Amino acid sequence: KEKYPDQKEYLQAVAEFMGTIEPFLMKNPIYVEKNILELLLIPERLIEFRIPWMNDRGEWKVNTGYRVQYNSALGPYKGGMRFHPTVNQSIMKFLAFEQIFKNSLTSLPIGGGKGGSDFDPKGKSDGEIMRFCQSLMQELQKYIGPNTDVPAGDIGVGGREIGYLFGEYKRLNGYQSGVLTGKPLAYWGSLARTEATGYGLVYFVQHLLNDQKETLKDKKVLVSGSGNVAIYAIQKAQELGAKVYGCSDSSGYVIDPDGIDLELVRDIKEVNRERINVYLTQRPKAKFYEGKNIWEATIAYDIALPCATQNEITPELAKIMVKNGVKVVAEGANMPTTLEALEVLNDNQIIYCPGKASNAGGVAVSALEMAQNAQRLPWTFEKVDQELNQIMKNIYETCRDTSLAYLSKEDLVAGANMAGFEKVAKAMLSQGLV
Ligand code: NDP
Repeated sequence: KEKYPDQKEYLQAVAEFMGTIEPFLMKNPIYVEKNILELLLIPERLIEFRIPWMNDRGEWKVNTGYRVQYNSALGPYKGGMRFHPTVNQSIMKFLAFEQIFKNSLTSLPIGGGKGGSDFDPKGKSDGEIMRFCQSLMQELQKYIGPNTDVPAGDIGVGGREIGYLFGEYKRLNGYQSGVLTGKPLAYWGSLARTEATGYGLVYFVQHLLNDQKETLKDKKVLVSGSGNVAIYAIQKAQELGAKVYGCSDSSGYVIDPDGIDLELVRDIKEVNRERINVYLTQRPKAKFYEGKNIWEATIAYDIALPCATQNEITPELAKIMVKNGVKVVAEGANMPTTLEALEVLNDNQIIYCPGKASNAGGVAVSALEMAQNAQRLPWTFEKVDQELNQIMKNIYETCRDTSLAYLSKEDLVAGANMAGFEKVAKAMLSQGLV
């Protein structure tokens, strides 16, 4: 706190983690003796760089780029790149910190990293996006590689951006299929990677419900965001029989009493890159709430899937969600719930699935993409999807069983943190890093 007083999100992620792992440390004092926590808190490397680029009017613009290579105990750094005007060191560090434990939970050989830029892709032409990505990669390429650090997408970075980043890396270093994941299918992207985070989130919820002899059938669901994670969470939830009534973007939210028309949302977001209120032009019964956060909605639902951004659920909004009758909050986004909002959910016995467990499907399939790239063999959609489902089941069970073992009760946050930490800490010790 004294060292980074302004890094609010980073301190929040660390506080959430530290608040839960004591029972594990009590039973495993070796990690305290070896001071492993202090070591773990400092990123192995934090790179900050300048990204000059030219807009369509021929003017020079400049943004800041980041790559946080947080922990490589379990494998090459792995984590997405985010393009959003709010990006700063604090956000990069919180995301990279969480990524360490998320990646550990997948049981795949990947370390934790994250990166991005305060570049705002909204309203930029395709040419501007391309020139920006090329300039970013001119610098980033010095620090990444298929066996050292493998970036992927995140907010504002999808297949188009990964394509431009990949092209520039190739021009500078030659063809290396495994240097980025989330690639388009034409050049060694993995089937089901686009869907993976959203599908994985819903699989996680499905396993949780199955444990209680329940299913998603006829469950009422609200989803925040309408980007990559949100779209495929809606798709899988609908496929498994749930009714999804609302989604959003940063301009407001839409509620459709007949259930969200996903093809329309995909058209608006994936094809035309428009704002969510365009939804109303084809669905007259739907309502748009301009400038509002979807968690302000007062409608009855069972499951909330926050899939937009950090700290979107405040304690006030959590209280509204409880009043609406929500039973499960499962995070597709990273840290969408503030610590205080989490308290409200806990006080009301709402089941809460932390992002580092429930949204790990994206990075898991990214690691499967790396495996396919190394093998030089593409897997079928069904194979990747099956592996994803199995990985999400394992993650859910690991979180559940770890919390039962250490706390004698189900607490998925504590379970995720303790299980994620154990593997990383063991690896750090055995590698002689203390
Ligand atoms: P996208 O850029 O595809 O979509 C983000 C969505 O969230 C958009 O609808 C966007 O609206 C909305 N949003 C973003 N910032 C805000 C804000 N400040 N207020 C309100 N709405 C906002 O990103 P993704 O779907 O890839 O990522 C969403 C979340 O999921 C992030 O937290 C990300 O870290 C996390 N995640 C993503 C993974 C992936 O594989 N893509 C993997 C694991 C986690 P608008 O367009 O108006 O900005």
